[in-house]
Amino acid sequence: MALKITFLGTGTSQGVPVIGSNHPVCLSDDPKDKRLRVSVLVSWDSHNFVIDCGPDFRQQMLTHRITTLDGVLFTHEHSDHTAGIDDIRPFFFKQGDIPIYAHKRVVKALKKRFGYIFNEKDRYPGAPAVEINYVKKGVDFHLAGKMITPVRALHNRLKVFGYRIDDFAYLTDVKSIKEKELEKLKGTKILVVNALRTESHHSHFNLEEAIHFVSQVKPEKAYFTHISHLMGFHAEVEKSLPENIHLAYDNLILEV
Ligand SMILES: [Zn+2]
Repeated sequence: MALKITFLGTGTSQGVPVIGSNHPVCLSDDPKDKRLRVSVLVSWDSHNFVIDCGPDFRQQMLTHRITTLDGVLFTHEHSDHTAGIDDIRPFFFKQGDIPIYAHKRVVKALKKRFGYIFNEKDRYPGAPAVEINYVKKGVDFHLAGKMITPVRALHNRLKVFGYRIDDFAYLTDVKSIKEKELEKLKGTKILVVNALRTESHHSHFNLEEAIHFVSQVKPEKAYFTHISHLMGFHAEVEKSLPENIHLAYDNLILEV
């Protein structure tokens, strides 16, 4: 059961191009410089799981003609990772309650912002519903025959989860990680992690920090995501990277 990884979005919170921006990267014609909000589809057999469900979720599902969704794994509650949850409706209508996997703090935040999805009483006809599955630090769980290992990292002071599935690991919005959690990533063939831009940032790895992180984990290959227009042109940055590291781009598909 190989994993198929589809990068649905590789942009930072505003996406690239940024609305109204005249930055050269925002004006680029290269499709690899167009980045929707960050999300990845992980598929095996006939199963489809997404990690995060941001404001571009609808477009991402249409582009890749996704007809069934087994569940959504959340990294954390920020809008660029959660704002598309209403658009699980077409899947809900066909399949029933859609399983979500998240830390209890994230579920609490989603309940506050999307109360109508979680309300048991006075439900609006047509509102989607979810089946809540709590993700806990240090507790692996199973999804459709695969073991999932949550990996905790810090987004400034906010705790976020990355996920390891077989030899694939996906982490985003990381600024720091403890040694014990980093150990859980050892032996991965493909590691995906965020790299925002070249300048430093209080809550995201910049390019240098992301490269250093890859050198600690030592995967066969690494792909960077959650990229800002301030990173520069895809083609130029790609040329500057070590041999086993690449910038991800929207619609890139990998197999692990
Ligand atoms: Zn983010």
